[in-house]
Amino acid sequence: MEQMDLRQISLRKVSGVSAPKELELHAFGILSVADLLEYYPYRYEDYRLRDLTEVKDGEKVTVEGKIASPPVVSRFGRNKSRMTCKVMIGDFLVTATWFNRHFLQEQIIAGREIVLTGKWEQKRMQITVADSEFPDRGSGRKGTLQPVYTVHGKITQTWMRKTMVQALTQFGAMIEEVLPYALVEQYHFMPRKQAIALIHHPQNTEEGQQARNRMVYEELFMFQLKLQAFRTLTRERMDGIAHQVENRTVREFVRSLPFELTDAQKQVVTEILSDLRSPSCMNRLLQGDVGSGKTVVAAIALFATVRAGYQGALMVPTEILAEQHLRSLQKLFEPHGIQVGLLTGSVTGRKRKDLLASLQMGMIDIVVGTHALIQEDVFFRQLGLVVTDEQHRFGVNQRSILRRKGMNPDVLTMTATPIPRTLAISAFGDMDVSTISERPKGRKPIQTFWVKHSMLERVLGFIRKEVDQGRQAYMICPLIEESEKIDVQNAIDLHVQIQQALPHYRVGLLHGRMSAQEKEEVMQQFSRNEVQVLISTTVIEVGVDVPNSTLMIIMDADRFGLSQLHQLRGRVGRGEHQSYCILIADPKSEVGQQRMQVMTETDDGFEVSRRDLELRGPGDFFGTKQSGLPEFRLADMVADFAVLEQARDDAGRLVNDAAFWTSAQYVGLRKFLQREQIFQGDLLD
Ligand code: ADP
Ligand code: MG
Repeated sequence: MEQMDLRQISLRKVSGVSAPKELELHAFGILSVADLLEYYPYRYEDYRLRDLTEVKDGEKVTVEGKIASPPVVSRFGRNKSRMTCKVMIGDFLVTATWFNRHFLQEQIIAGREIVLTGKWEQKRMQITVADSEFPDRGSGRKGTLQPVYTVHGKITQTWMRKTMVQALTQFGAMIEEVLPYALVEQYHFMPRKQAIALIHHPQNTEEGQQARNRMVYEELFMFQLKLQAFRTLTRERMDGIAHQVENRTVREFVRSLPFELTDAQKQVVTEILSDLRSPSCMNRLLQGDVGSGKTVVAAIALFATVRAGYQGALMVPTEILAEQHLRSLQKLFEPHGIQVGLLTGSVTGRKRKDLLASLQMGMIDIVVGTHALIQEDVFFRQLGLVVTDEQHRFGVNQRSILRRKGMNPDVLTMTATPIPRTLAISAFGDMDVSTISERPKGRKPIQTFWVKHSMLERVLGFIRKEVDQGRQAYMICPLIEESEKIDVQNAIDLHVQIQQALPHYRVGLLHGRMSAQEKEEVMQQFSRNEVQVLISTTVIEVGVDVPNSTLMIIMDADRFGLSQLHQLRGRVGRGEHQSYCILIADPKSEVGQQRMQVMTETDDGFEVSRRDLELRGPGDFFGTKQSGLPEFRLADMVADFAVLEQARDDAGRLVNDAAFWTSAQYVGLRKFLQREQIFQGDLLD
């Protein structure tokens, strides 16, 4: 008989889960019994019995003993009470004290066994009791590690614990193995059902750890299986585009650029061109520090695509960036007779219709835009390459869908949040990774200063000095995450203040509540130096390129993450002039101060991300939206990096073995790949 799939079993089947409780669980993202069982505790409460001779003063302990005196209750205030009694624990006569638990009074009977959990105060030979239970009432928490779950709303810790026990009792036996048998053997893993049960209720720490290790591996393995299977399936079908790219043509274009490529740029261009020429689909991640010159690399790839007879698309996260890239690509491409178009949310009506028509007819060679580019009604005549800049990354599922829409373009993803290469390779197991490791020569390192708010006057003086010399400055307003409204108000206030302080210059304002056209106008004025100082919220963050600006001032800099600060700083230092970044902040926490320190010590993005990792600890690091790395229930890509690599190798070996795609043994994994929209073929069950 086919076993029931726990993913298909409704939470209501777990006794104790009512309709309202089910809804609450849905809000946690728990939709089925399978989800519930995989809702793991984040720590344990230790109720294991201890010997008082081994306990340090002030520690929380669970001990067992015999009640040695009747309880004494004293009441104070409204509904407040204190109850004490003597308890013989081993050789110690200890005072147990309860607060507001006088209703237990009748159960405290001299001679009765009792288990106490609470804080041990050695000097006064006293335990302040948080929890107590009686062994004659059956086994309770005594001697166990109790799971602690993330709960909120109407779901309480007690309810969650009880429900989990219930779910395990009813359905635990139905948990199926998902890992291939050979791997379970090889790593001496416990069976999946045992691992899940033990994660919730370990007998001891070692056992809990073993269970956890197994599930961490499993998570990373399943993740890698997806990536590696997608990679294998697309490789094998070889149905990408083999662009006919002539070296001579590309070389001519490169020679027409206003500067010489750095060695690092040349290297990655070679890698990308070879991908374009190959008949399989390119899926490459291009990482490089801010200002390392990724845009021109993308431009070369787009140029090659067009010369090979295809269209290209450049997708960016904001309209400002789209406009900026449009201008720079037009400048580069127009002499070569290449047509560049723009498609963003603000391109509407007649303009949009015309653009879509020209795209479909192939009259536009390259289109720059936001996510609007991959909407359903956008058709290309022959799309050959999609480049995505900053932040954006097509998930493996999205790419799978793209190919089924009949488009099978090469994909190049650019990111300015560099992570160590080895991590990138494993984390983006389905991608090849290219890294631009140096910045163009002759760039002076950006000098970064951290000052207190009280220095604002002097900072203003500094702005004046730079602007007097013909340079330009950005001033970034603090980030109030909860409220865009406050962000905007801050920007408006600062704008007024700076206008008064610098009456002889033009001060521009940029924030998220302005229309795309207004923003574009201000950006234009700034890039033409008609505006000298630009006050902005973080809409400016990514990609903006105005080489004449040399001063980046960040208000309340401690509110920003390190990688974001580094991004912002990357807006200056793009031209020949010495550039400065001034962080204005009075951070209270030690870590906050260290973060400011890091910024002043290095302007190397790889180093910044390494230090960030150190300061935040694993887990936190990739919580940021910018990384685009996947998140897991248990696994942590950084802390579990060795496991990640192992899982990658194992998954890769498996999907490259023909037996994987036919053998009955792997039908479960093939079903998983089908659910994830990676695999469309016959399951051969
Ligand atoms: P990012 O990698 O942050 O996207 P950009 O592509 O915006 O960086 O490049 C930053 C600046 O450096 C731009 O003004 C660009 O024209 C310039 N640049 C790019 N490559 C070179 C090079 N090889 N030599 C000199 N300047 C370059
Ligand atoms: Mg860029």
